Amino acid sequence: MVKKEAGRRLRAQRRVAAAGADAALVTSPANVRYLTGLVSSNAAVLVPADGPAVLATDSRYAGAAERDCGGIELLISHSVEPALARAAAERGVRTLAVETHEMTVERYQELAALPDAPLLVPLGRVVEELRMVKDETEIAQLARACAITDQAFGDILAAITPGRTERELAVLLERAMVDRGAEAPAFGTIVASGPNGAIPHHVPGDRAFEPGDLITIDCGARCGGYHADMTRTVALGHPEAWQRELYQLVADAQRAGVAAATPGAGIAAVDAAARDLIAAAGHGGHFQHGLGHGVGLEVHEAPIISSGGTGTLVDRVPVTVEPGIYLPGQGGVRVEDTLVVREGSGATGSAELLTTTTRELLVL
Ligand code: ZN
Ligand code: ZN
Repeated sequence: MVKKEAGRRLRAQRRVAAAGADAALVTSPANVRYLTGLVSSNAAVLVPADGPAVLATDSRYAGAAERDCGGIELLISHSVEPALARAAAERGVRTLAVETHEMTVERYQELAALPDAPLLVPLGRVVEELRMVKDETEIAQLARACAITDQAFGDILAAITPGRTERELAVLLERAMVDRGAEAPAFGTIVASGPNGAIPHHVPGDRAFEPGDLITIDCGARCGGYHADMTRTVALGHPEAWQRELYQLVADAQRAGVAAATPGAGIAAVDAAARDLIAAAGHGGHFQHGLGHGVGLEVHEAPIISSGGTGTLVDRVPVTVEPGIYLPGQGGVRVEDTLVVREGSGATGSAELLTTTTRELLVL
């Protein structure tokens, strides 16, 4: 059986050849993992336009590389990029494409100054583009991460009581995700209560919940390297009319965004499907971030769904849809799901929702 990473390297290789480079030096940790299976904080992979790839990592990861990365030549060195650049030059590589969006200037200068250094050219986000469309194994990992997120969220609902602080709840939720089988939280959990809900990426603090609060919780589990991402806003005690209206508007916009996320849909049109509803209600200025983003080996990856976004969605692309309304000094609402764009029709258009916690306003 050919390892899935070998197929990915082959696709990357074709792109390197099409770009006119002799080889690519891939250095982004997520891209290295995608192409080789190795999880390492110090690794790089040389992908020639023609011929076998070489994985470089240091001795701390040698055992893992030998165990997990069959079928690829291994080079053990602490300075992985210079070692691979030298190996490339020895193989006659004259033009080496590098990930300039990721590499430090210092490292770039070091490579350029090597004796017989190949000409360095930008690779662009070639591997990120390959990563955008997932295979079913990847979608299964993501689905597991999302299921754990749903379960953990359910586990901590009873702990949302007056007097509990944002930080306490964030820790409880992260603990619940790990207890349910997550390898780690996908990112630092956001708990934003009362007026703090007006800050989209509020860092949980020592504010204690009060009756009448809207509480926004943005969380996700990570499984097999794949990141779930879900947000719910709940009400502590009986919500006031403005809070219900705000919630309904965001939930309606979120449903419209999910329904628009079909194969072939323009990215900007998906954003507009949700944003137009919010703008029509007079809250356009209170929704200033994009509608969503791809999820996978990174929690924020291609495609970015925003009003200025280009390109179209295709089959098997997991994305989030997460409209929000933020009223300074008052509070906010966000509803976010992770879903997979799918060919064919289902109950929710063509999107397969992976996070399934209720989108009705939970009154606790
Ligand atoms: Zn989120
Ligand atoms: Zn998100």
